[in-house]
Amino acid sequence: MSPLFIVMLGPPGAGKGTQAKIVAQNLDLVHISTGDLFRENLKNETELGQLAQQYMDEGELVPDDVTIRMVEERLSRPDCEDGAVMDGFPRTAAQAKAFDDLLSKFDAQVDVVPYIKVPDDELVERLSGRWMSPSGRVYHEKNNPPVVKWIDDIDGSQLYQRDDDKPETIRHRIEVYNQETAPLIEYYRDKGVLVEIDGTQPIEAVTEDIMQAIKEA
Ligand code: ADP
Ligand code: ADP
Repeated sequence: MSPLFIVMLGPPGAGKGTQAKIVAQNLDLVHISTGDLFRENLKNETELGQLAQQYMDEGELVPDDVTIRMVEERLSRPDCEDGAVMDGFPRTAAQAKAFDDLLSKFDAQVDVVPYIKVPDDELVERLSGRWMSPSGRVYHEKNNPPVVKWIDDIDGSQLYQRDDDKPETIRHRIEVYNQETAPLIEYYRDKGVLVEIDGTQPIEAVTEDIMQAIKEA
């Protein structure tokens, strides 16, 4: 069977991470979040993490060459043989092109791009109330709370709020998304792989629509 590559597209806070985790589990594929990979590098104080930190703190994108190299390395591992659910990558035209070139070497391509649509005011509300687990699991203080406040349901670890989930940085990240990432909507629409998803629905309904889109791809 040929591998299956899914790209979750949408603004910060649309629910890409939340959905990518569920979809990857449903399909038994790996979930690759470039944000999580950068945060892991930051925590482990690697050279890559140190380089990424200033960009992340300011809500700017990490340079394309660095990001592409990191993804290339991740995709070369054997657990990606059947494909992957990409979350937060690609985010620029150059990354999308590099990703296509990379996949073509494996006779693969981007198969389906669920574009999760949520209005800006809702994004700010979602990101301001986002609680993260060190493992990358995502909660929301109101919309998707853990059973015990500030504690991960699965592994009991302490939840935290991301430094870049503060109002000024959120607003800047949405601007960067509109400028750098939103053009990918047309890029993937032209390729016939884009499926628009109403991201304002409850989490389970969004998952259903995404799974349906993948089935029909
Ligand atoms: P992204 O990866 O696109 O930035 P996340 O998956 O981290 O988005 O979700 C952002 C916040 O919104 C999290 O706090 C998450 O719990 C919450 N959230 C995700 N999907 C929904 C939804 N369908 N309805 C309400 N809140 C949601
Ligand atoms: P969000 O939940 O807002 O979608 P992510 O966790 O995906 O955010 O990304 C957090 C930060 O990591 C970004 O603001 C950016 O600095 C960096 N980053 C993540 N993915 C990429 C990428 N594909 N290209 C450049 N920078 C990225």
